[in-house]
Amino acid sequence: MEKTIAVLPGDGIGKEVVAGAIKVLETVAAQYGHQFNFEYGRIGGVAIDEDGVPLPADTIQLCKNSDAVLLGAVGGPKWDQNPPHLRPETGLLGIRKELGLFANLRPVQAFPSLADASTLKKEVIENVDLMIVRELTGGIYFGTPRERKVENGVKMVVDTLVYTNEEIERILRKAFELAMVRNKKVTSVDKANVLETSRVWREIANEVAKDFPDVQLDHMLVDNAAMQLIRNPKQFDVMVTENMFGDILSDEASMLTGSLGMLSSASLSADGPGLYEPAHGSAPDIAGQNKANPLATILSVAMMLKYSFNLLEEGTVIEQAVNEVLNKGYRTADIASGNESVLSTDQMVEQVIKEIKEISK
Ligand code: NAD
Repeated sequence: MEKTIAVLPGDGIGKEVVAGAIKVLETVAAQYGHQFNFEYGRIGGVAIDEDGVPLPADTIQLCKNSDAVLLGAVGGPKWDQNPPHLRPETGLLGIRKELGLFANLRPVQAFPSLADASTLKKEVIENVDLMIVRELTGGIYFGTPRERKVENGVKMVVDTLVYTNEEIERILRKAFELAMVRNKKVTSVDKANVLETSRVWREIANEVAKDFPDVQLDHMLVDNAAMQLIRNPKQFDVMVTENMFGDILSDEASMLTGSLGMLSSASLSADGPGLYEPAHGSAPDIAGQNKANPLATILSVAMMLKYSFNLLEEGTVIEQAVNEVLNKGYRTADIASGNESVLSTDQMVEQVIKEIKEISK
C-alpha cells in the first residue's frame, strides 16, 4: 500500500514526538511492505514566524492532497500575546474547518502497568477500553445568534444550540461503525429530559440503530454519564455525544489513564483525510530536552493506520508494542514513579520500534 501523509510537527515538543512517530511508521512500512510518503508543512507558531500566518494556504493544500494528516502540537509563550488571527490555535481551528473534521475520536485505554498513575482506584480503571466520539463542528460552539444585548432596558446574553438532522445522523453513524469493529455497544449521551436538540438526537439514534442490528444502543443523560464515567467506566464501549458534552466528558475520561502523554486522538471527515494528533499541547516547559513522552503520538498513528488506511493488523501491532514496552517497565519522566529508570523521547521510540520488529517478524 502506498499513502501520502501530511506531517505538521508544529511547535515545542510537537516536533520531537512527531519525529518519533514517523520512525514508527517507517518501521511498520518496512515490516509489512508498505510505502508512506511524508510531506512536511507548517502550522501554528512556526508558521506565524516564517509565513506570517498560523495556517498558510500551501499547508491547507498539502493536507487536502494527502491521505491523512499527522499533527504534533501548536503554541507557546512566544505567541501568547498575539491578536486572535495571529495565534497558533487559530491555525488548529482553521485546519479542522478546512478539512471538515466533524468527528473527534478519543480512545481511553487503561494500561495495567500504569494503573498507579490514575487518581482512581485500580479496580475501577482496570481493563477500561472506551472511545468517546464527539461531534466537533456543530452545536452551541458554532450556533448563532451569539450576542450580548439589551431588551427593554434588560441586559442579556444569548448562545444558540443548533444542529441539522444531517449533522446528528452522520456522527451517530460514525459511532455505530466504530462500535462494529470494537465491542458492539453504543451509549448515546444527551439531555433529552430538558433539551429539544437532545430529543431529536435520541430519535435519530434510534433510527440509525436499525441499520446496525448487531450493536446494542443505550441512551444516557449527560449528568449521569459524567458520574458513570468515574463510577464504572468499564461499562462503556463507544460513547457518542454532541460538541459541548463531548468536550467536557472527553477531558473527564482522559484522566482515567492518568497521563496526558498517553492520550491519542483522531478527527475524521466524511470522505477527506483524517487528522491524527496527541491530546496534549506543545509543553514549552520540556520542549527541546528530549524528555517528552512520544507514546500519545505513536498511538495516534496506530489510529491512522486503522481508521484512514484500514491497516488493522499494523495498527494493533503498534498498540501491542506500546503495551509491551510499558509492561517491561520502560517509562518517560511523566509516567515514571518510584525507582523506575527514565528514558528519553528517542530511547522510548527505540524500544517501541524494537517491540514492533519482534512482534511482526
Ligand atoms: P500541555 O499539554 O502542553 O502541557 C501540560 C503539562 O503536561 C506540562 O507540564 C507538560 O510538560 C506536560 N506534558 C504534556 N505533554 C507531554 C508529553 N508528551 N510528555 C511529557 N509531558 C507532557 O498544555 P499547556 O501547558 O496548557 O499548554 C502549552 C501550550 O500548548 C499552549 O500554548 C497551549 O495553547 C498549547 N496547546 C496546544 C494543543 C494542541 O496543539 N492541540 C492542545 C493543548 C494546548
